[in-house]
Amino acid sequence: MNPSTTIPVINPATEEAFDTVSRGAVHHVADAVDAAFRSQKLWDEMAPSERGKILTAVAGLLDDQIDEVARLTTLEVGKPISEARSDVATASAYFRYYGGAADKVEGETIPVGPGHLVLNMLEPIGVTGHIVPWNYPISLAARSVAPALATGNAAIIKPSEEAPLSVRRLRELCLAAGVPDGVVAVVTGYGAEAGAALVAHPRVGSITFTGSVETGRTVATACARTFKRCVTELGGKSPQIVLGDADMPRAVAHTVRGLFTNAGQTCSASSRILVHRDVASEYAERLAEAASQLRIGPGLEDPQLGPLISAAHLARVSGFIDRGVAEGARLLSGGSRPSSLDKGYFIEPTVFDRVHHSMSLAQEEIFGPVAAITSFDDEDDIASLANDVRYGLVAGIYTQDVARAIGLARKLEAGQVWINDWFVGGVQAPMGGYKESGQGREKGLRGLENYVNVKNIGVALPSES
Ligand code: NAD
Repeated sequence: MNPSTTIPVINPATEEAFDTVSRGAVHHVADAVDAAFRSQKLWDEMAPSERGKILTAVAGLLDDQIDEVARLTTLEVGKPISEARSDVATASAYFRYYGGAADKVEGETIPVGPGHLVLNMLEPIGVTGHIVPWNYPISLAARSVAPALATGNAAIIKPSEEAPLSVRRLRELCLAAGVPDGVVAVVTGYGAEAGAALVAHPRVGSITFTGSVETGRTVATACARTFKRCVTELGGKSPQIVLGDADMPRAVAHTVRGLFTNAGQTCSASSRILVHRDVASEYAERLAEAASQLRIGPGLEDPQLGPLISAAHLARVSGFIDRGVAEGARLLSGGSRPSSLDKGYFIEPTVFDRVHHSMSLAQEEIFGPVAAITSFDDEDDIASLANDVRYGLVAGIYTQDVARAIGLARKLEAGQVWINDWFVGGVQAPMGGYKESGQGREKGLRGLENYVNVKNIGVALPSES
């Protein structure tokens, strides 16, 4: 193959290319859409319970092949193999959940009085597009593809050019489970080429985009040109609020999990920690100590922290660390590339305190293992501090007083609020953004609404007299 028609897939732990995928162009997208358009009818005409069985079978295949698919995920993303396994298990959970829902997507009747029967029918959109980032490739693809398939749609997936392999494998497993050829397609390639072509295609009825705010804006603007339905799941700078009476060891342990999972490359990372001044020093010391104990290494060795995705991203994260120091935050631990590793895009888990709210450490999504601790005095004002960023994805509150936490939760501009825990809710709990974290909700039964059109039908009934 001519090199310019392929894209190398790089192992972030070794910096070496270990595979290639084809560089999809406009005509690849057009071919996939044509095939999807033809085969979607067949899929939609299948009994919903049969579709459900096939989606459940996809879940079974993911369970059976979890080792192999997790290994692919670790090779392309870098994450620890146990985290990659949980990524595959989550993908399986989406297929099982939405497989079970396939024959429970019900319309309704509307009471307009005698003489008429008025119905809302739910119909599939047709061909749906799914644009996926690299951080949790297979579970994020499954998050939107499974409900789209459950409701009778075809799905064309554009995975990230940086992590396309596990998504490509997902399509193979869909075919093996009995999803008809053409109903699920994967077009690999760059965002500005294959991704933009998918968004522009007039026969694609919806786009579910998961990725950065900047790309999300471009995609949503392009969707508006053809009036496509568009769900955007974007970035975050999620506050973990630690009140003065919080269970300190628990809050620290949850920052370690909430922030350092996937080396901080998680949309809902607890990247901004707002701690009451009375306990801020203790919190910062405990977190810096815990961070410095984390084992870093190649994902296949199952460390606690793997590498970042790419050289460019490592440079970006290092830039934020340098800026944090220059802006006057205090670096408590980490901040450098680990001296024990001579290859790979690794960066130490890093903790800053004395972060002023206006600093880039507190305002920007760093998407790396960098904790920014800001202390506050007035608990009455904490909601305005927490809300004063352009994002609104999730928030967490740590306190012994749950009633107070619920009162605070209602003031926070975030699609999900977790109290005394982080990453609460499985595939059943809807998530999505406020503000620049995007619009629409995925997961749970609400996630099905993204893939149906409501058709209202009114029938005149024969008069009874
Ligand atoms: P990105 O925006 O760079 O890319 C996401 C996808 O969009 C990729 O597949 C890319 O190829 C494609 N793309 C790029 N330009 C495009 C264009 N012009 N038209 C169509 N597609 C295009 O994001 P990323 O770096 O892959 O992912 C990291 C970001 O994703 C972070 O901001 C993170 O917070 C966000 N994210 C959000 C969620 C969520 O659920 N809210 C989940 C995971 C990641």
